[in-house]
Amino acid sequence: MFEWSDTDLMVRDAVRQFIDKEIRPHLDELETGALSPYPIARKLFSQFGLDVMAAESVKSMLERERAKQAGEAAAENGDGAGGFGAGGAQASMMAVVVSELSGVSIGLLSTASVSIGLGAATIMSRGTLAQKERWLPDLMTLKKIAAWAITEPDSGSDAFGGMKTSVKRDGEDYILNGQKTFITNGPYADVLVVYAKLDEGDAAVDKRNRPVLIFVLDAGMPGLTQGKPFKKMGMMSSPTGELFFDNVRLTPDRLLGENPHRSGGDGRDSARDNFAAERIGIAMMALGIINECHRLCVDYAKTRTLWGKNIGQFQLIQLKLAKMEIARMNVQNMVFQTIERQQAGKPLTLAEASAIKLYSSEAATDVAMDAVQLFGGNGYMAEYRVEQLARDAKSLMIYAGSNEVQVTHIAKGLLS
Ligand SMILES: Cc1cc2nc3c(=O)[nH]c(=O)nc-3n(C[C@H](O)[C@H](O)[C@H](O)COP(=O)(O)OP(=O)(O)OC[C@H]3O[C@@H](n4cnc5c(N)ncnc54)[C@H](O)[C@@H]3O)c2cc1C
Repeated sequence: MFEWSDTDLMVRDAVRQFIDKEIRPHLDELETGALSPYPIARKLFSQFGLDVMAAESVKSMLERERAKQAGEAAAENGDGAGGFGAGGAQASMMAVVVSELSGVSIGLLSTASVSIGLGAATIMSRGTLAQKERWLPDLMTLKKIAAWAITEPDSGSDAFGGMKTSVKRDGEDYILNGQKTFITNGPYADVLVVYAKLDEGDAAVDKRNRPVLIFVLDAGMPGLTQGKPFKKMGMMSSPTGELFFDNVRLTPDRLLGENPHRSGGDGRDSARDNFAAERIGIAMMALGIINECHRLCVDYAKTRTLWGKNIGQFQLIQLKLAKMEIARMNVQNMVFQTIERQQAGKPLTLAEASAIKLYSSEAATDVAMDAVQLFGGNGYMAEYRVEQLARDAKSLMIYAGSNEVQVTHIAKGLLS
């Protein structure tokens, strides 16, 4: 694959029209948090028929699972991801949608992608049929919003070893205590997928190695507090906040995945399953930011006139444009390679996804900072939007595993 297909380009144009009509006019309100991102995300879903597609996909997935449970032969034609994690043409269309939205509001995109790609996807991959029936129809259609909570104040990169949020058994139930932080959608999520350590009171078991369980909580449960959105450097349209658990009683039907007492299953595997997909998503987001900076800068270089010439005539400006073009080509090629590998049934390894995440997030941040510089004083003003892109781009180097942690994963892949 060396270029987008005609269908991809049609999707891109339709998304651009939506962005121009429904997002750009509201960017200032979204960026101050005055406007909620969720109604716009839902509108995007309904306008492109994604809600109907998702509802149908969830329905047929549930029917297949019911048939399987009833002992009937299951039809093997499903993608198992509600139509969103699939390979084939869908993968490239998804890349187009993700990159186009990222060039205008990465925050808006994250609210929906965390809800579906991490929250709902975890229930999809680890849940029982009853759990899928209970939560997925509303989550996959964005009627309800999910959060996916691992990070804690004392355990960011050391997410599992340092995890302090814990559950203790109380008869059949579990009692949850602790705290999470930096959680996308945390302040407003209807459904919360929460990772916690199992505390059996056995001092002989090293706290770092205790099993990690995953629970699904609903907003409003006694003992659960969803903090207010943090003020952030960028991604303002994505509400990020803390969660507090004070003796939250969880019935067993809220535990996702295998019971570690019976099978040795562990929530660490579930989170790791998400890591590669999340990192590939970062490359698509980086591409969107690079494309938008590239477009704005080429335009500005042609129109801003100094000393009787447009600034595009100056070699130091040309150097910035050339570097942006190289970054655009590299990151786009990485996205193309990812799509091809997915289509060929040979997905990227975690080390490869980490390398792509690291490179593309740094490239997007460099390009966006150069864009601010190229615009001069205008670049520092919110009106010209490149300052927002620079603030947004920086986030890509921190979440989905900080870039320093990506280095460790790349090296592990090389040295293993
Ligand atoms: C906008 C945003 C949204 C987020 N959304 C979510 C979410 O929805 N759910 C969720 O669970 N989390 C979320 N996070 C949290 C995110 O995953 C963490 O911020 C990230 O994993 C880094 O953890 P930390 O912030 O605690 O940094 P720390 O782990 O404290 O790291 C501090 C510094 O040390 C470096 N470092 C750490 N380990 C090593 C090492 N071994 N070698 C070298 N350097 C190292 C880091 O790279 C960093 O530079 C979000 C974060 C942001 C910024």
